[in-house]
This record gives sequence, C-alpha cells and structure tokens, in this order.
Amino acid sequence: MSSLFPALTGAPAERAALRFGERSLTYGELGAAAGALAARIGGAGRVAVWATPALETAVAVLAALQAGVAAVPLNPKSGEKELGHILSDCAPQVVLAAAGDELPSALGDLARIDVDVQATGPLPTPSVSDEDPALIVYTSGTTGPPKGAVIPRRAVAHTLDALADAWQWTGEDVLVHGLPLFHVHGLVLGILGPLRRGGSVRHLGRFTTEGVARELNDGATMLFGVPTMYHRIAQALPEDPGLAQALGKARLLVSGSAALPVHDHERITAATGQRVVERYGMTETLMNTSVRADGEPRAGTVGVPLPGVELRLVEEDGTPITSYDGETVGEIQVRGPNLFTEYLNRPDATTAAFTQDGWFRTGDMAVRDPDGYVRIVGRKATDLIKSGGYKIGAGEIENALLEHAGVREAAVTGEPDADLGERIVAWIVPADPQSPPPAEELANHVAARLAPHKRPRKVHYLDVLPRNDMGKIMKRALTHD
Ligand code: ATP
Ligand code: MG
Repeated sequence: MSSLFPALTGAPAERAALRFGERSLTYGELGAAAGALAARIGGAGRVAVWATPALETAVAVLAALQAGVAAVPLNPKSGEKELGHILSDCAPQVVLAAAGDELPSALGDLARIDVDVQATGPLPTPSVSDEDPALIVYTSGTTGPPKGAVIPRRAVAHTLDALADAWQWTGEDVLVHGLPLFHVHGLVLGILGPLRRGGSVRHLGRFTTEGVARELNDGATMLFGVPTMYHRIAQALPEDPGLAQALGKARLLVSGSAALPVHDHERITAATGQRVVERYGMTETLMNTSVRADGEPRAGTVGVPLPGVELRLVEEDGTPITSYDGETVGEIQVRGPNLFTEYLNRPDATTAAFTQDGWFRTGDMAVRDPDGYVRIVGRKATDLIKSGGYKIGAGEIENALLEHAGVREAAVTGEPDADLGERIVAWIVPADPQSPPPAEELANHVAARLAPHKRPRKVHYLDVLPRNDMGKIMKRALTHD
C-alpha cells in the first residue's frame, strides 16, 4: 500500500496543514518533519506516542505511519497503573514525546526520542501491506479495563474515505478540533482525516465555546465534538448570540463517541438553524454509520451504514432481524473493511467478539427505522434494562428526563428487583441543587412521555456524573446503595 497521505507530497508545500494554538505547520513542513523522524524510527517494531494535544503528537503518528511502524497513542492523563498495564501489554521499543514533556516513571525503561517539528528529511514511502498495523488504540475503558485494538492501514484508509463520501469532506475543509489525540475520534478522524483529504486542522488545545466561535468566524468549516461539548454549546447559546451566528456559518457539525441527547440536538437547531450530524463507531470498527451530509437529518439516530460497511441487528439467539419496524431491539453486528484485526494479546476476547461467519459483535443495541436509519438504544451490558417482561433502553428514559427543566444531567441503570427482574433507577444532576425535582414528579414526567412501565422507581441525586476523558458516562461507577 502506498502512503495513507498523498497530500504530504501532492499538496502545495505552503498549504496550511496543522495549527495548535500559535504553532502551525504547512504541508511542506509537516512532510519534512515527519520524514526526518521516520528515518530515526524506521527499525522499531512499535512506537508509543505521548499523545498531548500538540503538533508533536501529529508529527509522531504521521512519521510512524510513513515509516511503516505501528503507533500506540498514550493518554498523558493516565495513572501509573493504567500506563503500566498498557506498556506491558504492547511492549513498544521507543516513546516519542515533545522535548519539554515530563514523562512518568512508568515510561522510564523506554528509549525516548524527542520530536522536532522543525527538522527536515525526505519522506519515505512505507514498504508495508494493507493488513499491517497502523495503530494500536486502547478502548475508552467505559465498560472494563481498556483493550488494545490492532487497527490495520486498510481500515484507516477505508473509514476516512467512507466518511469523505458521507460528509462530502474535501481538502477545502478546515476542521475545528478540541478533542484528545489518543482515541479514534480525536486522532483518526480529527487529525488523520483532514490530512488524508489535504485539508487542515485547527486544534483548540482545550475545548471552549469561545474558541469554536473564533475559528468558525475565521473560516473553519467543520466541528467534531463529543456530546459533552455540544451540551455546553447548547447551554451557552441562549446568552451568546455571537456563538449562534458563528455555528450558523459551519458547513458541518459532527457528534460522536456517545449519544447526543435529543434535547441538545433540538436546542442547537432552534438557535442556529444547523443540525448536528451523528456518527457511530468504535475503536474496534472505526466508523460504522453516519447521518449523511446530503441525507435527511433525524435527531436521536446515527444514520445509515457507511459505504462498504455491512450492518445487521440480531436477536438474542443470533437470528438476524429482517424487517425494520423502529421497535424491535437487536444487537448491532458489523462486517467490512473498517474492522480491526484483533485485540492485542487477547485471542480469547478476539474470538468471542466475532461470530463464526465474521460479523463483529458490537455489544450495542439498536432499532432501525423502516428506511434503515439506526437508533442506538444503548449498550447490551449496561443500558438494556429487563423489567416486568419488557426490554427497556436506558437512552430514551435519559432523553425524557433531560426534557425536564429541573434536570441538568441524567443516567439510567437497572438494579435487581424481586418482582420485576430489574427496576429502573435514575441518577440525576439537578439544574438547581437547592431545589432538586422530587422523585415522584420525575417518575410522572417519564410515564407521561414514554409509558408507565418506563418510569424510574428510584432517583439518586448527584453533583456530577462519573465520566471518562471522552465525557462518556461510566455507569459501572454508579453504585446502588
Ligand atoms: P470499552 O470498550 O473499553 O468499554 P468504549 O466502548 O467506550 O470503552 P470506544 O471504542 O471508544 O470505547 O467507544 C465505542 C462505543 O461508544 C460504542 O460501542 C458505543 O457504545 C459508543 N458510541 C459511539 N458513538 C456513539 C453514538 N453516536 N451514539 C451512541 N453511542 C455511541
Ligand atoms: Mg467498547
């Protein structure tokens, strides 16, 4: 396979590629810096990248991909224990970091190479195959300890080109980016995506609504965010007409990594005239579905399968669901060139993740509208509550609770119940901690909107919900008392 990034040599050298705060690189400078670094790491089997939100991270990953060496992005906020687990699991030879970065002692035994973004060297053409690993990315750890997904070059190329088709994504696009760089969303979509198209990225360092508005006013065309960012935007809009105006200029607003509550979709559309496009993916599969830029917007859905991706829903006994009625819940299974190769050092987990005929079991539950749009109900392990003979998705109850003016954040879980099998429990962050809405009122609110059997039987009040660094709610940290 040739380079994943033809623009590194094909785009005009002075074209803007990356900007992080005050520091930026053109395509010419980026190719030269990646070339110089690639020459230093060419012999390594696998390199770790200290993935701070900085130019060095982008140059390091690009150099590895050009050298044909697998890159393992590390979360710089990980604790020593988590880092120790990842390093002993993937055993990299070298760690790439910015010169000023202080590395924790868990990385002490690794040779270190400082990334020089001003170095220059010829860009090598990697002599690798499509199936060789491009990245080893650890899953977000939402449901258990992170697993290392081995992602081949073929999957990166496929997913980025499928998204280009769905989003009409071109080299003219300028992306506003405020996500960390050690997961698929921030790294593969947010950095490698624009570079594969020959477009550019402006990273905010840290997400702020002011930063988003500034960049959109200054010619940026796209925003990628996680639901917590769009939630902050939705909250800020009523008092910030400038933000609404700036968002109105965007060509495409994309949300992913977790479900964006319908309430936030609606508030953003009402204030800006824009819809937020949701896409659905995983570390193991890269992207599976998206609402298309030229497709009908539908809040609360993740759209349709991307080109080349096969997607089906199956019942508990493995039978595929063949009619889409918008109601029958099944597990999402996918097949296609977007899939990972294996979980590193976990042949047991890899085997368990696939069916005999090669479908990947996502563990996510969904229904499909009659025209094929996918609506995610939640994760099989934590979001599907079996109560009184019904299978109830936590997501729709969370959406209903969020429509109550007294609720800022909501999570719904099931807990064992002698009569019902499981009973529905709500975890609420009240809008006003001084006067949280009473449990009875919330239960009636849900029953009136959905159905009586979907009302929460118990409500817990919290100051914040436990979230990981992608803003995903860690339901396993919500313990019942
Ligand atoms: P772990 O596998 O370690 O428990 P994780 O599943 O959160 O963590 P990721 O691979 O980063 O790790 O996340 C993929 C999951 O994120 C999907 O399986 C799905 O549950 C969720 N997800 C991604 N996009 C969406 C979306 N648009 N709507 C709802 N859920 C989404
Ligand atoms: Mg997962």
